[in-house]
Amino acid sequence: MKKRKSHDNYNINMKLLDTFKSFEEFESCFEVYKNTNYVDYFIKDCKTLASINAKYPNGIMVTALIALKYYYIKFCCVHGGSHKNKLHLTNASHRNTMRQGCEAGIYLRVSDDGKSLVITKMTEIHNHEISRVLYSHLPNQRKINPAKKVITLELMDLKANKKMIQNKIMNDSGRIITLKDLSNIRTTARKHDSINNIVEVINKLKTKHNCNVEVSTDEANNFNGIFIQDRFIAESIHAFPEVVFADATNKLIDLRLPVYVLVTEDGNGQSEIAEIGLLVNEEEQTLRWFFKRLKNLIQFQLILGDMKERKVIKQVFPEVSLTICLFHTLRTINREITCDKRNVTHDERDSTKEIIQNLVYCKSEFTT
Ligand SMILES: [Zn+2]
Repeated sequence: MKKRKSHDNYNINMKLLDTFKSFEEFESCFEVYKNTNYVDYFIKDCKTLASINAKYPNGIMVTALIALKYYYIKFCCVHGGSHKNKLHLTNASHRNTMRQGCEAGIYLRVSDDGKSLVITKMTEIHNHEISRVLYSHLPNQRKINPAKKVITLELMDLKANKKMIQNKIMNDSGRIITLKDLSNIRTTARKHDSINNIVEVINKLKTKHNCNVEVSTDEANNFNGIFIQDRFIAESIHAFPEVVFADATNKLIDLRLPVYVLVTEDGNGQSEIAEIGLLVNEEEQTLRWFFKRLKNLIQFQLILGDMKERKVIKQVFPEVSLTICLFHTLRTINREITCDKRNVTHDERDSTKEIIQNLVYCKSEFTT
């Protein structure tokens, strides 16, 4: 087994049985290897020394050098794996287009004496073209540093031409960057903006849109929910308090907070929004806070969509009749009456559904 002398002796042709005194040493060699051979890898599998020692507290690896970090680690070419392989769900669409079934890979493990990492398997045959240009277009090589990111954002805010920004960054850093990368930087930054400026949003709602806004926070001053009502909305609930419809939707806004919408029915049978709430969670306390705002306003009936927390609502409105909306009732019936669940024939299932539908839509007790 050959020993590596020092960091200066980078072997750009890393090979089988090469040893490393630390994971850091391997990483710097690997970096040079990747950049000179124009190949890129991802970690396919690994086990850290910490985890193996936690599992076997009396095992031989307890004395292994901490700087080795891994018990074993397996790198695969970024073009490895098949299209069906969806290990990286977060980046699936992006990564899957790169999967070409390349078998190239490097496998390192701790030596028996626990003093070094050894390359015990290495395949360098790639089934795809390898070139500097292709390499520089790979996502890992296109990453830009935070300082450059700030400059990019500033330029984009000034509405600079995207092509010009791209040109500048590529010249400055000598790296490839695509127009799509630039758009992604903008989108991620925007997400951060919208998360952080709740105070700004509330002020805008109050001053610009004349809204009645209330915010609920917990003991630690964490945001729990927001209640929004503009003047027009407030009038509608006062004018038509007999029936209020309530439902929540989870996929309306980027933050995925449940959006609660309460709607009233006006004299013309038209719906009017009565209140909007963005709630961080659907726990009793939060829901109670939200519904209490309407406490003295609803007079007869509250019609609910697909809402689980009926208990809270019953507590807040004990004297109000609570109904589940027709659409959701029919949907549930549709889901529950199946041949499998009820052990009925197709004909029986269809006729049952028809009878229920006729019952639901009949105009009075006397029509059929
Ligand atoms: Zn490859």
